[in-house]
Amino acid sequence: MTVRSTVHPTVHTTVRSDERILQSDIFGREQQRAPRADHGWHEEAARRIPVYHRTGVLVVGGGPSGTAAAAAAAQAGADVTLLERYNHLGGLSTGGLVIWIDRMSDWQGQLVIRGFAEELFDRLPADAVAGPPRADWGSRDAAKAAHWAQRTAAYHGVVTWSPTIDPERLKLLSQDLVLERGVKLVYHGWGTEPIVEGGAVKGVIFESKEGRMAIRAEVVVDATGDGDLFARAGAAFDNDIEAADVHHCMNTAWLFGGVDMRRWIAFRAGEPERYAQFMEQGRAACGLFERPFVSWRDDIALFMGPRQTGYSALDVDDLTAVEVRSHHAMRQHLEHYRAHAPGFEQAFMMLSAPQIGVRHARRLKGVDAVLRSRWPEGTPRPDEIGVTPAVSPAFPNISIPYGALLPQALDGLLACGRHISCDKNSHGFMREIPQCWITGQAAGVAAALAAGAGVAPRAVDVARLQRTLQQQGVYLRSAETVAAA
Ligand SMILES: Cc1cc2nc3c(=O)[nH]c(=O)nc-3n(C[C@H](O)[C@H](O)[C@H](O)COP(=O)(O)OP(=O)(O)OC[C@H]3O[C@@H](n4cnc5c(N)ncnc54)[C@H](O)[C@@H]3O)c2cc1C
Repeated sequence: MTVRSTVHPTVHTTVRSDERILQSDIFGREQQRAPRADHGWHEEAARRIPVYHRTGVLVVGGGPSGTAAAAAAAQAGADVTLLERYNHLGGLSTGGLVIWIDRMSDWQGQLVIRGFAEELFDRLPADAVAGPPRADWGSRDAAKAAHWAQRTAAYHGVVTWSPTIDPERLKLLSQDLVLERGVKLVYHGWGTEPIVEGGAVKGVIFESKEGRMAIRAEVVVDATGDGDLFARAGAAFDNDIEAADVHHCMNTAWLFGGVDMRRWIAFRAGEPERYAQFMEQGRAACGLFERPFVSWRDDIALFMGPRQTGYSALDVDDLTAVEVRSHHAMRQHLEHYRAHAPGFEQAFMMLSAPQIGVRHARRLKGVDAVLRSRWPEGTPRPDEIGVTPAVSPAFPNISIPYGALLPQALDGLLACGRHISCDKNSHGFMREIPQCWITGQAAGVAAALAAGAGVAPRAVDVARLQRTLQQQGVYLRSAETVAAA
């Protein structure tokens, strides 16, 4: 990836390459923090805590991956509990206002992100989804591609299935889906410590308004996004960060209401010189400056930046600093957009995301991984549990191996979502919402099979796992071999 500096001293602009679809400004942290004062230690006394619940599969984290995991595990017959620290499901795809669901069709227009994802889109109300009609997925028609390029759904001249959605509808539907399948749903519970016995995770201690309690489980799925549980249980992980790469940036997204996105798009697409001038002025006036994306409605604009680098998603002071900086940026953007952006004259601050936008904190070091070196292969891994579209038409679809969900040594736990085992290039797409649904569904089914058979997740019969995933509608290329098994 090439990186060049632009007007603002702390700004880097990532330049499009085969590995990046979007150009984006990335802003360095405001200032280095002084080292934390040493206030000494407090000795926490050991104490007996109640076992709140016993379950077959415990999923911790109700984001895209955790919701898919819980729904899939219950569908596969397991007794499932889903623990979420906030008051809704969907994680960043709802509470984080990441309401642009990235590509689910490949460059030929074939839908490869299926299963749980397909069920969601079949059931979301029509007015909660904005995206191209199915007949146009994969279209290279110049006029269609130009239209959808302005609406998050065409890249490299190809129309893709990458719609925007209404986050409240997705919250509700996610909740319906897990409750319908009999999942025990626990909101307002923050998983704090894995219970590890004999090298295997046997449950989780969580905090709530009731204090500290335990949930005992046969298998735990870590869907926290940040690897909270596998890290604390001692599993190996990567947390590499790269300055000026979008990969680890954080920010709190927001929505402006009262806008006219059609006028904005006409300005942006029709007046490139004025638009470039507007962006330069915005950077000069605000420092951190971001352009809007469309949402599921033309009167609501989505801002998923400015992206901020140099902060850690595992440091409470850094998380606070990013929130404060993002909230300030929202106010500055409102003033600048109202004064200068066609379509934004009546804009108002509709909502800043209840969940901070963390793209990367830790990634599991798994038995296997999704690797950049394998992108050109195009062949299914023997333990394929899902297929992802490639970053550009230059590569074939990419196989996701079961081994990417399995810790190298730790038993009793599976990982899914944005902290699965992959290298940093592959993380660019493996962290996207559709891929999180895929790895979540696979982790849920694998956990159900492990709990049902009384075996460790690494000992699950892979052919049976693949068959069950196919029965749940997941697209696998090893279909014929699996069917013959
Ligand atoms: C600003 C930004 C823009 C993005 N843009 C896009 C995009 O355009 N398209 C796209 O598809 N993807 C995009 N992504 C990526 C995508 O949103 C995330 O990677 C994806 O949501 C990750 O899903 P997840 O289930 O792994 O984790 P999350 O969505 O982070 O969900 C984790 C859930 O676990 C809960 N949790 C965490 N820790 C605990 C705990 N200890 N106990 C209990 N609960 C816990 C959280 O509250 C949360 O609900 C973007 C991400 C960001 C930050």
